Amino acid sequence: MELLQQKILECGRALNDHVLLVDSFLNHQVDVALMREVGREFARRFADAKIDRIVTIESSGIAPAAMAALEMNLPMVIMKKSVSSILNEGILQTDVFSFTKNAPYLLTLKSQFVHPGDRVLLIDDFLANGEAAFGAAKLLHQAGAELAGIGIVIAKAFQPGLKKLRAAGYRVEVLAPVSRMSENRIEFGEPE
Ligand code: 5GP
Repeated sequence: MELLQQKILECGRALNDHVLLVDSFLNHQVDVALMREVGREFARRFADAKIDRIVTIESSGIAPAAMAALEMNLPMVIMKKSVSSILNEGILQTDVFSFTKNAPYLLTLKSQFVHPGDRVLLIDDFLANGEAAFGAAKLLHQAGAELAGIGIVIAKAFQPGLKKLRAAGYRVEVLAPVSRMSENRIEFGEPE
């Protein structure tokens, strides 16, 4: 997606060769006009996938997922990363190792918000090692739903997540696949 890739080149910053900072338009301040285009692009790419529900992971997945849900006229569900005392009935949980915090957290889904047989589109901001996506896939499976597609805003294609998810049979659409990255340099391209 040209518009997104231009924005990453203009405003993104590779902190090193494995972490990309995009907090001026995606993770902290949010460019909602760009997110609307991101939502439209996901809607276009998954138009044929017969999706019933969009699921995302708090917090940075929410903006792109909400825009896609609006565009596709679908309900959206947020998987939680933090444990809450009011979230105790009918919950599904799994440990996920956080790429940015370098520590595990409990990914949580209230099963009432995903129905057995639902075809789910998972949308997230970044894909690195695939930990978050595989954790979400596990909870959706436990809820009896089918993970029909994964939409990622930025995937660092040189890290293992993208290949692993595709090898596991998931359909993964990436709007900005980063093929190489180092300080002051970001290159795009899908892996072969
Ligand atoms: P994974 O679970 O695929 O290893 O990592 C995905 C999650 O880690 C994303 O939901 C995102 O929150 C975070 N993440 C991974 N790589 C980056 C990165 O380069 N920059 C930022 N800002 N977040 C990242």
